[in-house]
Amino acid sequence: MPIKAPRICSCGKVVPSGAVCECEARRNRERKERFDKKRPTARQRGYTAEWEREAKAFLSEPGKSHCARCGDPATVVMHIKSIRARPDLRMVRSNWRPGCQRCNAKEAAQERQER
Ligand SMILES: [Zn+2]
Ligand SMILES: [Zn+2]
Repeated sequence: MPIKAPRICSCGKVVPSGAVCECEARRNRERKERFDKKRPTARQRGYTAEWEREAKAFLSEPGKSHCARCGDPATVVMHIKSIRARPDLRMVRSNWRPGCQRCNAKEAAQERQER
């Protein structure tokens, strides 16, 4: 293999051929950190904040304070048609009903079994 000459990085350091300069490594790391930090939060926020706000409003409407299945105090919104079957109905209120954690978990488990 021919030996390549070391290069001079834009920061002025002499970098052996094929190696990454410290300044570049740092930049890459910082870019990755920013990326890691930014992406999930933005996505999470988009989903959770909107969903939680809407779900809360929904559950505070008259007649929706109790679980549609067991009658316990409602704490979550369950979908009538599962979002797996109809992802387009996820945010459609006519596809929502009040539910509790337990029934929600039960339905999720049931749905997994049916598949
Ligand atoms: Zn450099
Ligand atoms: Zn319930």
